[in-house]
Amino acid sequence: MPLHCPRCKKNIDKTKVDEIDAQLMNTYHNDALRRGLCPVCMTPLIDTEKKVDQ
Ligand SMILES: [Zn+2]
Repeated sequence: MPLHCPRCKKNIDKTKVDEIDAQLMNTYHNDALRRGLCPVCMTPLIDTEKKVDQ
């Protein structure tokens, strides 16, 4: 059940969020992901867990 960016149409696996966040912080000092934003376009990510469909 990933996080979804409606603009990039990209999914970010929740189990990898911490890992990706650490990489973004180390490489780009980008803290978007820990703020719930897409690291690419800064659009708020949608938690697909809240949807009914799988
Ligand atoms: Zn995006």
